[in-house]
Amino acid sequence: MRIDILTLFPEMCENVLSVSVIGKARERGFVEMNCFQIRDYTLDRQKRVDDTPYGGGAGMLMQAQPIYDCFADVCEKAGTRPHLIYMSPQGKTLTQERIKELSQLNNIAILCGRYEGVDQRVLDEIVDEEISLGDYVITGGELPALILADGIARMLPGVLSSEEGYTGESYYNSLLEYPQYTKPAVWRGIEVPAVLSSGHHANIKKWQRERSLERTLERRPDLLEKADLDKNDKKFLESLKRCEN
Ligand code: SAM
Repeated sequence: MRIDILTLFPEMCENVLSVSVIGKARERGFVEMNCFQIRDYTLDRQKRVDDTPYGGGAGMLMQAQPIYDCFADVCEKAGTRPHLIYMSPQGKTLTQERIKELSQLNNIAILCGRYEGVDQRVLDEIVDEEISLGDYVITGGELPALILADGIARMLPGVLSSEEGYTGESYYNSLLEYPQYTKPAVWRGIEVPAVLSSGHHANIKKWQRERSLERTLERRPDLLEKADLDKNDKKFLESLKRCEN
């Protein structure tokens, strides 16, 4: 998969995308990521990429031309027209489900806004989808784009050591993950739950499943509606609800 990021701060994105799991995945060729400097495409002699909004209002807006031309170059370099996502607080809130769907595509481009945002005309002209990180506003689209790129890349084959790296995690199956523990077995007098060092595989699996259900019911009961629950799961949840009442 190839992910191209259109930004005024490519060095900020490169710094994050060159380290740890994603950095290694890029080095090993499991994912290609490129950052494009939108400013390189402006036709303005002073290299400006923003101007005041028509109708007045606070701040500046990113102009259409540099973004349009930058995306045209991305398309040329990618040899295809990638699915273009604009990171925006006005978009649909990002979910694990959407990340999973996007990870099936071969080419994605992500546009990062700055200032007060972007001239609507270029959004209407080239953007396929707007994605938000949540109901709040931050100063630029780079952090949201990096989160999206990271979330997608870690689902690609080879990036994590095994599929289990993400299939058992929170949200993948509409459940939160169970609590986890590492060595030492006793820390500040607090012991790791005994079942986890019992070596009894079935009991460990049962314990983990029940903790996952319990945690989801407690913290995110809304998720349970979509979760794939069997007879035992439902029975266990019913018993928890009875205890609550
Ligand atoms: N004036 C815009 C509005 O009210 O909708 C907000 C502009 S914000 C200051 C600048 C840029 O940051 C946006 O163009 C977008 O790319 C990014 N951004 C800010 N908050 C975001 C969020 N919650 N999710 C995704 N991107 C966000």
